Amino acid sequence: MNEDALRAEIIATAIRMNECGINRGKSGNVSARTQAGFLITPTGLTYQSLLHEDIVAITFAGEASGLRLPSSEWRFHRDIYVARPDAGAIVHAHSSFATSLACLGRDIPAFHYMVAVAGGKDIRCAPYATFGTQDLSDIALAALSGRRACLLANHGMIALGGSLEASLALAIEVEALAEQYWRALQIGVPNVLSDAEMNIVLEKFKSYGQRAG
Ligand SMILES: [Zn+2]
Repeated sequence: MNEDALRAEIIATAIRMNECGINRGKSGNVSARTQAGFLITPTGLTYQSLLHEDIVAITFAGEASGLRLPSSEWRFHRDIYVARPDAGAIVHAHSSFATSLACLGRDIPAFHYMVAVAGGKDIRCAPYATFGTQDLSDIALAALSGRRACLLANHGMIALGGSLEASLALAIEVEALAEQYWRALQIGVPNVLSDAEMNIVLEKFKSYGQRAG
């Protein structure tokens, strides 16, 4: 895909992120990998108003170019692209249920087999660090170890995938799981699937191309 088409897809993904209810206002951000680094949504502009030239290009070394300032969270996007060759795109959202759990500092355990969609037996919650800092980037990367998604304490969530479509789909899935876990917690202690069962599920997900119904 050429860079102009990628800019269009980033804008469409950011708009879709809000339309589908996993983000509100300008709090989230979206990026996609390029040859030299990545493209990311700018800070402070509504997604609906974004033009191709508003999308900011950043190199793997962290040098930004463009008309706008990049999202304040560009550091963790950069560090994820450098550390994770499987990351072709990243969606960061302040979705309500994932963020609510993150405000309690709670991981999402294997209360449902679909937790495996994020790549492992749980979806971790990274400890709190101030937005935009290297500290936040470091703890997010640690929480993403062996996973394609994590929660960020008192903040939100990150989902990554091979494409913008895959990243957004995962973010939607993580928010659905967070809502289900939240609701189950209202009336009791959810049963957590065993490690042995989750090993079976993770194996099946590999052969289903990471998507199962
Ligand atoms: Zn954020």
